[in-house]
Amino acid sequence: MVVSSYGPVLGDGTPVHPDRYDYRRAAWDAVHFPRLLDRFWQNLRRCVGWRVQYAGAVEPQRRLAPHAHFAIRGTIPRTVLRQVAAATYHQVWWPPVDVQRYTADRPPAWDIDQAAWVDPDTRTPLTSWADALDAIDTDPAAQPVHVVRFGDQVDARGVNAGTEDAERTIRYITKYITKQSADCYKAETERQQAHLDRLWQHLQVTPCSDRCANWLLYGIQPRKAHAKLKPGRCKGKVHQRSTLGIGGRRVLISRDWSGKTLADHKADAREWVRALLGVTVDLEGNGNPEVVQAPASRYAWELARPDDPDVPPLAHRLLRTISERTRWRAELLAAQDRARHGPPADISAREEDETTTGGEK
Ligand SMILES: [Zn+2]
Repeated sequence: MVVSSYGPVLGDGTPVHPDRYDYRRAAWDAVHFPRLLDRFWQNLRRCVGWRVQYAGAVEPQRRLAPHAHFAIRGTIPRTVLRQVAAATYHQVWWPPVDVQRYTADRPPAWDIDQAAWVDPDTRTPLTSWADALDAIDTDPAAQPVHVVRFGDQVDARGVNAGTEDAERTIRYITKYITKQSADCYKAETERQQAHLDRLWQHLQVTPCSDRCANWLLYGIQPRKAHAKLKPGRCKGKVHQRSTLGIGGRRVLISRDWSGKTLADHKADAREWVRALLGVTVDLEGNGNPEVVQAPASRYAWELARPDDPDVPPLAHRLLRTISERTRWRAELLAAQDRARHGPPADISAREEDETTTGGEK
């Protein structure tokens, strides 16, 4: 599933007319895409009448618009998926952002006496968040500032468990799990680089939430405004180059997909690593089984204070953790390598949900 078009693009994903490409809408769509997906699952569940289970990932397309791949457990007619996608939308009822009145270099000022953000020249307070919302409520002709919808590229197909097709689908869906959004997209040409930069410029001035400092650029004080806001430099994830606007979780799995909790998954992962490494005792116990079974009374735990003489400096602790993690990773990779090329190790803990049947979108 993917959001709609912002203008004609070439085969490399870059706009034919960069100056006419709707970057603003592209930025807003990326920021609000997670809400659109939420709506979609809600609508789909209502439509089919059962708690649809899904697992998938959101990633940027070649033209940098967010799109999503999902595996769905069960069977749903393609027409239903298409109809629900076409009928799904998310309205953003935020104040209008038609005119950018300030810039990051010429921002509004914080006035201590008024405890408000004011125009740097006239010292008039900017519209408060509450007033801006009231203006929308009282205006009978008010329109949502943004509406995000899916485009018409909804591609659904059936996948049967245990087939090569299923394996390929799982690989496809999980391909980007460990990557950041920007890593999913390699800008190889100057055109692609410029395209990415233009989208990023827009993302930097797009409000990410009702508390985003970027509202100040549009003459509005965000909710709970305070003196430390830096318009154009909000730290929200969606503004960062590495996320390309896809700031939330990118791997989305419905609660009952596997029937397991996060703790179960962690235990599974731990078991898998142990089996692979041939470790039979606790990994953090340095091979000493007593540590695992030690009665609680043998230890007294207390929080370390910053001035504790036996606590090394933070930098040392961080470096030690990093080197430990690096060592673990190297050992894991070596063990995986051995399992692949040497005598077969038991990696069955990895296989779960072998009963999966369903369609992918
Ligand atoms: Zn923000």
